[in-house]
Amino acid sequence: MEPGRDKKLLGGSDESPQPPFGKGGRFSLCKGGLFSERGEFLSQNAGLYIHVPFCPRKCGYCDFYSVADTRAIPVYLRALEAEMDRAAGLPWPGMDTVYLGGGTPSLLTPRRVGRVLDHAVARLPVAGDAHVTLEANPGTLTRASLAAYRAEGVRRLNLGVQSLDDSTLAFLGRVHTARQARLAVAHARSAGFDEIGLDLIYGIPGRSLADWRRDLESALTLAPEHLSCYILSLPPETPLGRRAASGFLTPVPEDEAARLFLFTSAFLEAQGYVHYEVSNFSRGLSHESPHNVKYWNRTPYLGLGPSAHSFLGNSRWWNVRSVEGYVERLGQGESPEEGREELTWDQAVTEWLFLGLRRKMGLDPTEFARLFGRDFAGLFGALLPALAREGLLKEEEGGFRPTRRGLLKADGMARRLAGALESRT
Ligand code: SF4
Repeated sequence: MEPGRDKKLLGGSDESPQPPFGKGGRFSLCKGGLFSERGEFLSQNAGLYIHVPFCPRKCGYCDFYSVADTRAIPVYLRALEAEMDRAAGLPWPGMDTVYLGGGTPSLLTPRRVGRVLDHAVARLPVAGDAHVTLEANPGTLTRASLAAYRAEGVRRLNLGVQSLDDSTLAFLGRVHTARQARLAVAHARSAGFDEIGLDLIYGIPGRSLADWRRDLESALTLAPEHLSCYILSLPPETPLGRRAASGFLTPVPEDEAARLFLFTSAFLEAQGYVHYEVSNFSRGLSHESPHNVKYWNRTPYLGLGPSAHSFLGNSRWWNVRSVEGYVERLGQGESPEEGREELTWDQAVTEWLFLGLRRKMGLDPTEFARLFGRDFAGLFGALLPALAREGLLKEEEGGFRPTRRGLLKADGMARRLAGALESRT
């Protein structure tokens, strides 16, 4: 998993060519029902997230749960199947997306990924046409492995490219080079992948806006269907975070980060990408990430693996953040669940505000009334004109949509609107 991404946290079009599925085609193209005529992802089914907590080595900025020792992969996979067996009895809605995230899921061989998917389909309500995404590190991929992942039913690739500049990759502590990233995309295209997302990082100390623009231009030569652009954060417990804390590294100031954000949005939109979520850009609606859209829509998802989070109704729960603990508990027939919370009405509304304002689609008063049984204008109406005057929000087609500057200030806007919950009668 990459920086800036929600910690618990697929697309397609009917024009896409039929991929070379193996094993009689476990997964097929999503036809009819998943996408609207305009190409928007419509599903209200649940999603399945599988956390693969292994990496070739830890990157200098990463605080996601993963370990650099891959010897535990076989026992982890047995535990993962045991967790699927435990979840088999729960009343989950049908699942139409599967997302293998991490960590570095491409450390699993294609055959192992195929077995994981087979077990998921056999034990969980995963649809036969579920849409499968694999996060991958370019340094772990070959032409043959990409063709094999495709044959196992992987439809979409999310490549952790981060930069196409070798000195930046070295600074970040990445294991791959820019050449490997370009080759990975070329091999993926020849394997038939027509949905490729690239993760990129900006706001790197010592790099200018012109450097970032060159990186973006290099990425665009690869014609990705999707781009996730994250600003570098430096958590204190990471090697780069420690360097920053001791004064050896100066993080990019907030106003410069804001300038980079606004530039990125304007630049990519001018190149035909839709800035549909704070950090995410797609080449047309059909290339949004269908699995991640579920998180932003508060659609149920089941997370399996160490540290994975799940959400159903108003309940959230999460697994133990340790491969050893995860394997041990499941080996003893116990649940790997580490914690759980039941969201109150106020918490659920607050979450809806935060997630909605991070999306270009913004807040839909009709949806609010349906989900929460209250009148949107009655609760928030007094604040909306002020946000509009400040150029952060605009009313469009009955919804309230963040402007580009509004996306930059999404969390601040959500906090202001959530404040109205406290003063309601
Ligand atoms: S590849 Fe790097 S950034 Fe991604 S999860 Fe592993 S250590 Fe973290």
